[in-house]
Amino acid sequence: MNVMKDDTNIQSNSINYWGNYEEEKRPKVRYDPLQSFIENNKIFGFRIHLIPLRGNRPRENVIRVKKDQLNYTDKETSILMQIYLGNDFAIPIAGDDKCIGKPTDNPRKLNFENYKGICILNKYSPLSINHTEAGGISLVAFSHKYTENLDDVSPIYDILISIQTALRSLIIDKSNRKDLVVPVVFFNVGPSSGASLKQLHGQAYAVNSANGLLTYAFMKSFAQNNDCLTCRLSRENRLIDHIEQELDQTDRIIWEDQYVRLLSPYAPIRPFSLRILPKNHRNWLGESTKEEIHSISYALYLAHNLIISVSPSGWPLLTDRTIVFRQSSSIDYDYHYFVDILPCLPLGGSELIDSLSITSIDPDRLAASMKRNLDEIINFNKNFYE
Ligand SMILES: [Zn+2]
Repeated sequence: MNVMKDDTNIQSNSINYWGNYEEEKRPKVRYDPLQSFIENNKIFGFRIHLIPLRGNRPRENVIRVKKDQLNYTDKETSILMQIYLGNDFAIPIAGDDKCIGKPTDNPRKLNFENYKGICILNKYSPLSINHTEAGGISLVAFSHKYTENLDDVSPIYDILISIQTALRSLIIDKSNRKDLVVPVVFFNVGPSSGASLKQLHGQAYAVNSANGLLTYAFMKSFAQNNDCLTCRLSRENRLIDHIEQELDQTDRIIWEDQYVRLLSPYAPIRPFSLRILPKNHRNWLGESTKEEIHSISYALYLAHNLIISVSPSGWPLLTDRTIVFRQSSSIDYDYHYFVDILPCLPLGGSELIDSLSITSIDPDRLAASMKRNLDEIINFNKNFYE
């Protein structure tokens, strides 16, 4: 016969478990100020439940790869390098800041050795050039300098400059195609991000509309702020946002220069995620100067290494990345883009149902840990940032 033990020890341990929290330990709700808005007197958008106590829960499913166990592919076998050397076909669009082709050109073998960053048409495009349904242009960009992650600044810069050139030619030059007004820019880095190629590459789409719920939330948030909230977050330390959250960023700013601010966001949509806020009001990447893109590249390098530096021992090593440029749904609309750097952790059920993320990691404390590692990371790539 089973008799339930009346164990007072378990009882005392149970305080703050099973959802029965003391006041100061209860979950707190935070909305991402740049992705949330008010409608019918209610807040909608991305939110997190911040619950530091949950960080101590047991973890059974952990596959941890050490950093020195990551295998690099031989540069010579890289598919993108074969294109770079002229051994394989491509339809080039941009080399650095020069337009070198059109999407309607025929594939050809070209030696790209005069360029550092190359942007080509995606051979396995998810978009159709000649149809309206799922229509648009899909691009892949890579650097002459082989790397598989964000451990080096110059390949990131090469990639972003060539994407900027290509997208400008496809979107701004309307003689090319009148209906492409939406720039989509992202990086999938590493196998768990969904990247099929090992070599670091950026991706971009030029499409005719953005109808997703995320875009809707960004645009609504922007519209509900009289002053651009991203401008304010890029310069001010303490402010109250349009949904009346008191944002004190003082301790969450990890690094900044005259063009960008890198911070641990108030309501991170992924644990350990970081955000880059360009200080100048720019609608999309196409409007940024080379100096600004240089700073963004450097901040991406820092962010990547900062996330690794705080990767907890009970977690998989957080080396893979999703990097997303949150830009306007049309280059014709006013907006202020920013960049999220996210470790690749799968979407949770609650996120797919209601944009609800859960984190045990306090963004202020995360920033403090990262700042302790900042000098070492900066010194490692000192030469690039001058
Ligand atoms: Zn702005």
